[in-house]
Amino acid sequence: MIVETDVRDGIHVISMQDGKLNCMATPMRRGLLEAIDAVSADPDCRAVVLIGRGKAFSAGADINELNSVAPIVQPALHQMLFPAIEALSVPVIAALHGSALGGGLELALACSYRVAAPDAILGLPEINLGLFPGAGGTQRLPRAIGVEAALNLMLAGDTFPAAKAPEGLIDRIVEGELLQGALAFADEVADARPVPVLMKKSVAAPGGAGFFQFARGAAKADPRKLPGALPIIDMVEAATKLPPAKAIDLEFETFTTLMRSDASKPFRYAFLAERATSAIPGVDPKSARPVASAAVIGAGTMGAGIAITLSEAGIPVRILDLNAEALQRGLDYCRKTWDSRVAKGRMTDAKRDTLVANVQGVESYSEIGECDLVIEAVVEQMPVKKAVFAELDRVMKAGAVLATNTSALDLDEIAAVTGRAGDVIGLHFFSPANIMKLLEVVRGKNTAPDVLATALALAKKLRKIPVVSGVCEGFIGNRMIDRYVGQAMYLVEEGATPQQVDKALERWGMAMGPFRMGDVVGNDVPWEGRKRNREADADFVSPVIADEICERGWFGQKTGLGWYKYVPGQRKPLPNPDLVEVIEATSVRLGIERRKISDEEIVRRCIFALVNEAAAILDEGIAQRGSDIDIAYLYGYGFPRFRGGPLFFADQAGLYAIIRQIRKFAAQSHGEPDFWTPHPLLLSLCESGESLSQYEVTP
Ligand code: NAD
Repeated sequence: MIVETDVRDGIHVISMQDGKLNCMATPMRRGLLEAIDAVSADPDCRAVVLIGRGKAFSAGADINELNSVAPIVQPALHQMLFPAIEALSVPVIAALHGSALGGGLELALACSYRVAAPDAILGLPEINLGLFPGAGGTQRLPRAIGVEAALNLMLAGDTFPAAKAPEGLIDRIVEGELLQGALAFADEVADARPVPVLMKKSVAAPGGAGFFQFARGAAKADPRKLPGALPIIDMVEAATKLPPAKAIDLEFETFTTLMRSDASKPFRYAFLAERATSAIPGVDPKSARPVASAAVIGAGTMGAGIAITLSEAGIPVRILDLNAEALQRGLDYCRKTWDSRVAKGRMTDAKRDTLVANVQGVESYSEIGECDLVIEAVVEQMPVKKAVFAELDRVMKAGAVLATNTSALDLDEIAAVTGRAGDVIGLHFFSPANIMKLLEVVRGKNTAPDVLATALALAKKLRKIPVVSGVCEGFIGNRMIDRYVGQAMYLVEEGATPQQVDKALERWGMAMGPFRMGDVVGNDVPWEGRKRNREADADFVSPVIADEICERGWFGQKTGLGWYKYVPGQRKPLPNPDLVEVIEATSVRLGIERRKISDEEIVRRCIFALVNEAAAILDEGIAQRGSDIDIAYLYGYGFPRFRGGPLFFADQAGLYAIIRQIRKFAAQSHGEPDFWTPHPLLLSLCESGESLSQYEVTP
């Protein structure tokens, strides 16, 4: 039974137990309503304790159900279950532990009292799913904790431990055994009348008529980013103005409209997609090897960032660098990062000292041999990487995981210099490694399944989001970005300016346009790659303008000049005064008559280039599923969450429309020959009416 009642001394103890997180799916709602009906039919009942068994009180709505019509299937929470609880003549005490989130907390708010374990995690995080609390949360929360606190809580979507809950939300923190504490509380309040019902309280708007207007002004910077924000404010205002039953109906109606809208779907898609990336056929999570200690080779930008991440996850790290000064710089960087957090009051001295002590500089390979994991982050040169791996093969204990942070090199070639290719894997962190959430996990042709399981478990421990990629130049993320940046450059050769391209894509939602991004990463990095490609293939075609600026030493922020100009001490990119001349001369040299290019063309060419390459990546089996690629883009490349990811966006736009546009581009743009050919996978999915983002490679 998903809901069970046990009567103890006149108190009905109703337990939710779906074996998972007690989500408010249809069977749970039905079970609860039957248990509540049994309470009203029992004249001897003095009180009710509502509790969750297992890991949670209730983690709220079932996201899969939200995407169907099920939440409206009777009994709906707002319409039937909650009014039934509020109509009882005896008090209902919600006893919270684990998670009480979203619909779970709304359920608790419909109860007469709430008691909680101090570490129960509470919150109404619906805004992060492109929604807002739609089962009375916007009505009951302001009645419990006041309008301002309720708005802040719902707009932030944060979760917090019950011990830190705003006043009015929790009636008692239970330090010992929760059920015992809840029963004792029930005994105390069983006879208290009237039984409290939040919906019977009135709620006053603070600060007069301007208050909600002000709140709207603060929340609507870009409504696409949080489509639930304005409705939250509207609904809380409704709580102060409308009769309760009317406000509840309005809330549900607004919620359903938003839930069905294209504005909110990408958020729920991303939520589910993110949780799917670690499921790899043939890889048993339980087979992960323990990682209690780690070593990092190379103390540069990436090595230091990786060491910070490992230390913060409680894994002691040893760093090795060939150059003593570089090693010291890396160690100093770690310390400075934590010092600045202490200075901002975000970390205690003691915590900083523990983290610093966790990172130890070492001088020789003999000092790292016993580590469970080693991550190589030396310069991006194949011979150097091979030499390092040969050394690792010699010194590392049997069973140690040997990882490389290479951004593009052939993992299989690196693994081949060791006698244990099964232990070799790519862990591609993004810069800054201690901040960026994406971890591209590169699976070589010989990488053992338990090594992959170890990498996925490590990602979780480091609070990163793993996306598994096969081996190819640039793996999933950089291989695609190369196509996107390439289009940005060809557009400049044809008539756009870097500023126009950046602005168009940023307005569309990208966190940073391709030229600003190039200046941050360093324009010399891809230049080296192009030179290598040209050596290997005489017919290799790439944008000429990119080489032109590199030949002038305009590498970006680090040189003060790039696609923009940078003044020391200022972050803002300024126009590079000599750039227009270089661009125009390049167009002349290429024989291109510059034309006016629309923002729409800019966005389409850059984004469709991503989509077409993603299709190739899926077709080659480099990515496991379409949604994995979207997650890589959301967490590693500043792709707007409100568009779900490049593939989800493509599905929404319609594959037919994209194919048609790609064919048109073939006729009008210059650049790599045959670039604008719709990939056969796009054509076949379009033909069969299937989705690109839901595409899964069959093993
Ligand atoms: P970096 O130049 O900042 O640091 C490299 C460090 O490795 C230097 O301190 C150098 O002294 C040391 N080193 C060189 N050869 C060594 C050897 N044989 N043994 C020990 N130490 C050695 O480089 P980085 O930007 O940190 O990049 C490191 C790796 O990470 C590269 O493979 C790069 O492609 C990859 N990566 C870089 C970024 C980025 O944005 N910088 C992002 C992802 C991945």
